[in-house]
Amino acid sequence: MQKMIWPNNKKFAFTIFDDTDHATVENVSLIYDFLKDLGFRTTKSVWPIKGVQKPKIGGDTCENPQYLKWIYGLQKDGFEIGLHNVTYHTSERADSIRGIERFKELFGDYPKTMANHSGCKESIYWGSFRVGGIAQFVYLLGNLFRGYNTYRGHIQGDSLFWGDICQERIKYVRNFVYDEINTLKICPQMPYHDPKRSYVQNWFAATEGQTIDLFLRSCSEKNIARLEEEGGACIMYTHLAKGFSENGLLNEEFRKVMESLSSKNGWFVPVGELLDYIKMQRGDYEISNLDRNRLEWNWLLYKMKVGHS
Ligand SMILES: [Zn+2]
Repeated sequence: MQKMIWPNNKKFAFTIFDDTDHATVENVSLIYDFLKDLGFRTTKSVWPIKGVQKPKIGGDTCENPQYLKWIYGLQKDGFEIGLHNVTYHTSERADSIRGIERFKELFGDYPKTMANHSGCKESIYWGSFRVGGIAQFVYLLGNLFRGYNTYRGHIQGDSLFWGDICQERIKYVRNFVYDEINTLKICPQMPYHDPKRSYVQNWFAATEGQTIDLFLRSCSEKNIARLEEEGGACIMYTHLAKGFSENGLLNEEFRKVMESLSSKNGWFVPVGELLDYIKMQRGDYEISNLDRNRLEWNWLLYKMKVGHS
């Protein structure tokens, strides 16, 4: 894969996809103020509609007027608003359609980027369906065959099916997360189309940063220096509501890491814009069986080592 030439003589790219689990105005707005002041424009995912059941993992939805007002402010400031399924629990097809239309009403367009929420059984190609063949068997074995067939958003005829809507409306969906700061190095194919998972237009990978500790480990000084040197691109996958601030104060290590990053000659645009740029430079990419095997096994080995992602 050719080396990317970044716009405006930038040396590398860095962005964040923020999973909205647990997020409220109170626990994440100070983080966004900080990112904005440093010049980062990243992706904040949302739940457009409020669920009727009690969620296992909750957080604010766009039905909360105060939260929505704050999200509008982010959008105005140049942050991307992405989707994390339509709400925090499983949605039937009609609700998925309603939620995605609501997203368009609220934000002017359909979501460009999405990540599945594990609490939603309509998540698409999720759980054991993230991988295929022997990798799927190993995945299931690792999970003691629990949860086979749990996630069904891509299964035509199922009451949770919304694959056709996803294919029509959403440009990029996240799958694999790796313990590698240069996401584009471990997944040079991204954004890619997978003919075996064709309800998703394009897939992207991400770098491990689910919690503050993992985020800081991925963004060590050494790793960031390598990202810069390799001219790579990093899409951090994280939950900014999970330990990045406490009692109204930013985590000190996080503050240092982001300040140092912002002083470097990096391109700090949202996930959708970054993927559009790579796609435009490189053209469309359909993965081969060999590519898929490599992506799946690299991920599976990492997952077996750490037990999540
Ligand atoms: Zn989630």
